[in-house]
Amino acid sequence: MLDSVPTSPTIRGMYIGGAWTPAARTFDDLNPSDNSLYARIPDGSAADMARAVEAAQAAFPDWSRRSFQERARALLKVAEVWEARKDDFIAAVMHEGGGWYGKGVFEAGFVAEIFRTSASLCYQATGEVLPSADGKVLMATRWPLGVVGVISPWNMPGILTSRGYAAALAAGNTVVLKPSEDTPYSGGLYHAEILEEAGIPAGVFNVVTCSRASVAEVGDALIEHPLVKGISFTGSTAVGRHIAAKCGAHLKKCCVELGGKDSMIVLEDADLDKAAEAANFGCFMHQGQVCMSTEKLLVHDSVYQSFMQRFLARAARLKTGHVNDRNNVVGPLINTRQAHRVKALIDDAVAKGAVLELGGNAWENFVEPTVLTHVDDSMDIWHDETFGPVVAVRSFRTDDEAVALNNDTEYGLTAAVWTADEGRALGLAARLETGMVHVNDQNIYDEPQVPFGGVKASGVGRYGGRWSLDAFTELRLITLERGGRHYPPVF
Ligand code: NAD
Repeated sequence: MLDSVPTSPTIRGMYIGGAWTPAARTFDDLNPSDNSLYARIPDGSAADMARAVEAAQAAFPDWSRRSFQERARALLKVAEVWEARKDDFIAAVMHEGGGWYGKGVFEAGFVAEIFRTSASLCYQATGEVLPSADGKVLMATRWPLGVVGVISPWNMPGILTSRGYAAALAAGNTVVLKPSEDTPYSGGLYHAEILEEAGIPAGVFNVVTCSRASVAEVGDALIEHPLVKGISFTGSTAVGRHIAAKCGAHLKKCCVELGGKDSMIVLEDADLDKAAEAANFGCFMHQGQVCMSTEKLLVHDSVYQSFMQRFLARAARLKTGHVNDRNNVVGPLINTRQAHRVKALIDDAVAKGAVLELGGNAWENFVEPTVLTHVDDSMDIWHDETFGPVVAVRSFRTDDEAVALNNDTEYGLTAAVWTADEGRALGLAARLETGMVHVNDQNIYDEPQVPFGGVKASGVGRYGGRWSLDAFTELRLITLERGGRHYPPVF
């Protein structure tokens, strides 16, 4: 089936107010496996963005007043259409995003669940009735924000884009999406095709694409537009800080999910075979381009040799190359700039004394799975998010040391702990400065109904399940006075 899907899609335009709309210019969207042209994408302007925001605002009264069951049915229909077309999405993940076939299959399945979980949220936008000292009826009620702007990254263009808007739609908001310039189809226009086919009303969901050269202007036009009431951002910490600051200046609600520098800790009583298998996935799945990728492996001194033997043997089996060959589990990095950046981080570490236990080679947009030991704090790779198939390994002797090595980063997304002693793991979990801790698993884990998010420079806010409602609704206190209120007699 998948082999019959063309490797380049037909681009119909941006999606504004239910109409496929051209831009004055286009930009080239490249296939990272060979830098061939994947598609020509509309390079939208600030004026296009303003039109999309106005279309979303025009659609808001009707969408927000529809019954919650109707919005739930609409999202279930989106899930159905998404599943029916999943081969198109898998092809886009491979040829636009440089993802291995298996990554596309996993992502396609997960996105359908995001829509179903979001449909269930339509039934959960509950408020609270509060006690009152004055005998009033006090109701904390939830309301949609209005137009929500969504800015999404390229690395999981299905999951991270849909996670940004599906719960927002469930809550009754309307949406303007600006996808990444590296995956404007799979992370943007493809979603518009699905929502149009599912019958989501015109203006409820809009997509404006633009190039990296235009993004500052087009991004500002979204964030600063007075009709936009909330921003949902997933991407790098540098851009997220900028966006959160802008939202702060305009007093807008924002949820920012940012970078990570995540550790997996292997204690001396861990199941080393399983830990090595998990580490191989956590470090190298999608070329390490996952915000939760395992970038630091911390191994107890007493099992260091035995663990490394197992881990290196597994990692050495991974094949790197063009994703047309499904044996290449490690595909290209998303673009040449990113491939050069990752190679420079490896070179910096090696120049400062790190030892290459595996890999280190890079060509075109490819970087081989790379394992570095003898890493220390002087090396950029210890601190910077690599976002490539590279892991830095260090040993430790005590739990305190493991905690300190884990927490030695500005980021705080996930941590993973391997041990046979769940009590010890829970004790450690309390001391690890991350938004998520996984025991006896690697770092990459999410389900659509759990609170996903980080602390420190990894973000503010949570996506997933009912926690998404906090991001995409506001609370309004409504009180009912029933004659019991006394005012001072002078009044
Ligand atoms: P990025 O920050 O470069 O881009 C993210 C989005 O922001 C893109 O759509 C981009 O076009 C847009 N953008 C860039 N400059 C902008 C501006 N001035 N105004 C408005 N929008 C702007 O990130 P990326 O390279 O696409 O994604 C990789 C990063 O995302 C990594 O740091 C990764 O850890 C992080 N990430 C975080 C999570 C999470 O949930 N915490 C998930 C995935 C990725």
